[in-house]
Amino acid sequence: MLRFHNIVFGPIHSRRLGSSLGINLLPEHGKLCNFDCIYCECGWNKDGRGDTVMPSAEEVSHALEAKLKECAEQGTPIDSITFSGHGEPTLNPHFPEIIAQTVSLRDRYCPRAKVSVLTNATTVNRPEIFEALTKVDNPIMKLDASTYDGVVLVNRPSGSYDIEAIVSGLSRFGGDFVLQTMFLKSPEFDTASEGNLPGWMDIVRRLRPREIMVYTLDRETPEKDLEKYTVEEMTALVQPLIDEGFFVQIRG
Ligand code: SF4
Repeated sequence: MLRFHNIVFGPIHSRRLGSSLGINLLPEHGKLCNFDCIYCECGWNKDGRGDTVMPSAEEVSHALEAKLKECAEQGTPIDSITFSGHGEPTLNPHFPEIIAQTVSLRDRYCPRAKVSVLTNATTVNRPEIFEALTKVDNPIMKLDASTYDGVVLVNRPSGSYDIEAIVSGLSRFGGDFVLQTMFLKSPEFDTASEGNLPGWMDIVRRLRPREIMVYTLDRETPEKDLEKYTVEEMTALVQPLIDEGFFVQIRG
């Protein structure tokens, strides 16, 4: 089960992001998310409930500034600052303030670095969250299925979930965001099925994201019996979108 032991971790080298610092706004020893995806690298929510303490805006900004100073002293370049971690980063109640502080620290210490947020998009309709997401370079918004039933099978949302409201919220970016979609097969759900894939492509055509990240399983998953797609298979599946001019990044 993936766990980070500092608020700010790395830098790690990523093929896509270069030298990348990660920020975990969720509890250090637990997991906190309003989804409970069958493929989540952090495991099931029920196994991560022991710790519910989230870092404050001040703690995040101190940790980030210390790390950026250390990297500057050691001559370590930073290409990217990415919010990911043990759950959904926008559930940290200080998220908007943390984003404002991070952008300002980035401007001061590594102005060329890109700030990215990996989010499940469930909070996109909260005005303060949407506003904060428009301030980062890469709001990376998850949408794994095109129907409510599909989302229930893959993402297992807690509480109510309205896919039409989420898509409508995403449309407010005017295409200036990255859409991220996991391609997988489970005994009950298949990304490539007739009941899912055409609808997902229609949503892509409606939203016109500037980039679409399609990826598949990489690490151990809490649900067993999941199958990944190969890069070749995913490429064939999204070929109609590529032919229509969409920028699709495919990661195996
Ligand atoms: S949204 Fe992300 S953190 Fe939350 S359960 Fe899914 S994969 Fe895990």
